[in-house]
Amino acid sequence: MVREMACRKCKFVTIGKVCPVCKSSDLTPDWRGSILVVDPATSVVAKTLGITEKGKYALKVT
Ligand SMILES: [Zn+2]
Repeated sequence: MVREMACRKCKFVTIGKVCPVCKSSDLTPDWRGSILVVDPATSVVAKTLGITEKGKYALKVT
């Protein structure tokens, strides 16, 4: 099973070794909860979290 990693900078969840959003390699397997942002332009949650790219994000990164 592939371990999903969350970016410490923007909280984007990815299975890759580098965050596709901010190009950071500062990823952690220790994250909790996730939200799926389909349309960042109209999503209130995305605005609150400062999300501009659609995708899966962790709610809490430790
Ligand atoms: Zn990132």
